[in-house]
Amino acid sequence: MYRCYACIDVAVVGGGLSGTYAAWRLRNHNHSVHLFESSDRIGGRMHTLRLPDFDGINAELGALYYLPQRHRLLRTVIRALRLTPRDWRRPRQGPPTYYLRGRRLHTSDLNTYKLPYRLADGEKHRQPADLRRFLNLLNPIASREAINYLTDTAPWRGLMSNQNAAQLADIAQERDEAQYTLREGMDSVPVQLAKQFKNASVTHAVRLSRRLACMRRERGFYRLVLRKTVTNGQYTTDINDHEYACARKVILALPRGPLERLQWEPFSDETFQRKLRSVHKMPALVVYFVFSGKWWRGEDPPLTDVITDLPVRRVRYMGRSKYSGRHNSPRYLFMVASADSTDVDYFKTLLDVSVFDGLVKVSFRNSTRFIKDVKSQLAEVFRVNSNDIPWPSSVGLRHWGDGEDAAWHLWEKGVMWEKVSERMLRPHAQEQVFIVGSAYSAGANQFWAEGALQSVDSLMRTYFQNDV
Ligand SMILES: Cc1cc2nc3c(=O)[nH]c(=O)nc-3n(C[C@H](O)[C@H](O)[C@H](O)COP(=O)(O)OP(=O)(O)OC[C@H]3O[C@@H](n4cnc5c(N)ncnc54)[C@H](O)[C@@H]3O)c2cc1C
Repeated sequence: MYRCYACIDVAVVGGGLSGTYAAWRLRNHNHSVHLFESSDRIGGRMHTLRLPDFDGINAELGALYYLPQRHRLLRTVIRALRLTPRDWRRPRQGPPTYYLRGRRLHTSDLNTYKLPYRLADGEKHRQPADLRRFLNLLNPIASREAINYLTDTAPWRGLMSNQNAAQLADIAQERDEAQYTLREGMDSVPVQLAKQFKNASVTHAVRLSRRLACMRRERGFYRLVLRKTVTNGQYTTDINDHEYACARKVILALPRGPLERLQWEPFSDETFQRKLRSVHKMPALVVYFVFSGKWWRGEDPPLTDVITDLPVRRVRYMGRSKYSGRHNSPRYLFMVASADSTDVDYFKTLLDVSVFDGLVKVSFRNSTRFIKDVKSQLAEVFRVNSNDIPWPSSVGLRHWGDGEDAAWHLWEKGVMWEKVSERMLRPHAQEQVFIVGSAYSAGANQFWAEGALQSVDSLMRTYFQNDV
């Protein structure tokens, strides 16, 4: 015999951006809404490390920035929450430069003879975005070198990994348009949404460390089995305890991995499983180093923002700390790697991720090889001797795996994503179970936080019109 700790109208499962936004949209609904999150924090793939004395310059381990001109929903939510946008680019930093095949290149060099790629005649003298349009998204006549060139100049390698993803690539290509981040940290969006949702009614609740493990329909209700969990750093595991809840409607704000793990009978049918597999999961690794003093040549601070074909993929100066009582010189924050797909495999051979207990404290003894390797890549990009780069005073790192905690999702080649996306919203017409989140969102925003918000918008418009 089981006893539910609560019987509620709507269970929202997943405390990332889509789950908190769905709960927030339903906050003035006259009934009870509970939000369940498996880890001990709200935010999911929006995850901010806040550094003391850095005055609003954060190490974002998940979503880094948004494009205010294109991400309309996110911009509106940010305004509603009264958060403070901040230019992601450092003053005078400009667009990224490139370090490709051992050569430093500026954007203006990309369409010239200086390019170290042996492109076919029609492919030469084009910027990556132009070449992408010209090739009509990896059409079969593109030379291998053109594909290498496009992959190496994209901010994330995985964007070029299949044809559907290539539709996104143009959009994700760095352009000279505004890129904003938030002074309070990107994860303040889901955190504030959850707070406002909870404060809107005493019948609402946020339940952390509760993983929805299975569901069953019983007499017009969904019975949810919620496993209790513990979180250590980035790892969340079940403990031997659980509770039950019943809900009339369930919104699963979850990406592919957690949906695959969820036990619910209607999800076992092959048609649904095929839909689940229509996106693939991409791993990523984001690493920050804090240095206690200057070691590079030239300007202080450096204006570096370099996209490279080295495994670190992107090296970016983020900002420096204020002088504080404890430190009589500033400290410097660098994003020293933001890698995905095969580059993550490279680092996995160097890095025992399990030693990164928590997110910023690194057991230096156990991560020497990894830090040395990153330092030597930094040295190459900055043209200094690796020994001249000091050991970082702290390291922030998050490894997004290719399992439940994948970094992002890309439509598989040939998938008619408009249709799949629509059907995923409510996979079984006779059930009151819905799926939202960026993973199955339609179109080019699948890669962005905006996709998570758009999917919730579609859900509210289509199935909850009377509630919002
Ligand atoms: C490294 C990286 C860089 C990125 N860069 C950008 C960027 O610059 N700009 C941008 O706009 N977007 C970026 N994104 C993408 C953006 O972060 C995501 O699209 C967005 O945050 C996804 O939100 P979501 O709610 O769909 O999923 P998630 O954030 O994954 O939320 C799912 C939540 O569900 C929880 N959960 C899982 N299983 C269960 C369960 N069984 N029961 C209860 N809870 C469960 C998880 O712990 C998680 O909190 C980036 C992502 C990563 C990883």
